[in-house]
Amino acid sequence: MVLPIVVYGDPVLRKVGEEINKDYPGLDQLIKDMFDTMYNAKGVGLAAPQVGKAIRLFLVDISPFAEVDEDDEDEDDEFTPEQRKELEKFKKVFINAKILKEVGEEWAFSEGCLSIPRIRENVNRLPDIEIEYYDYKFKKHVEKFSGVIARVIQHEYDHIEGKLFTDKISPFKRKMIAGKLKDISIGKISADYKTRVYRPKK
Ligand SMILES: [Zn+2]
Repeated sequence: MVLPIVVYGDPVLRKVGEEINKDYPGLDQLIKDMFDTMYNAKGVGLAAPQVGKAIRLFLVDISPFAEVDEDDEDEDDEFTPEQRKELEKFKKVFINAKILKEVGEEWAFSEGCLSIPRIRENVNRLPDIEIEYYDYKFKKHVEKFSGVIARVIQHEYDHIEGKLFTDKISPFKRKMIAGKLKDISIGKISADYKTRVYRPKK
């Protein structure tokens, strides 16, 4: 089932997510619904706060990055066939994730967010991470990721820490998009998918 995506301005996006255990009510259904919601919105990642739940759960499917964009002449050189294969099958659920290490030299990548429709900005992050997490069967993993895979994980991980990519851009750029963010928060900017605007109780 496709769930509405919470947009910028909802306090749930600013909460640090709580850890969950196997007995979290309706967990399997929630994961299924989150995948449906992410695919419906053509996203590559979705975190639980984006569907209104402040828990440490996010999922990613990076396969769209492996598709060759015919309009982009440079795209062919962007990934090697091996990298493309890795991206194609990169679909994972991360529960109670903890980033243990972030290293390397900062690089910029244009990020967007399903909770912040129609805004993209370059964000600097470190390229290599080591992360501990549990999969949907609650099996523990400690793995290393890099490049665009790490990038998507870092973005989703920020969500379960109550952070958004707009926190990481320069004050000047933030000022430039302040009006748009305000518009998103009051429902004046619509997305191509179902969203939920926060209405404070009076
Ligand atoms: Zn996001």
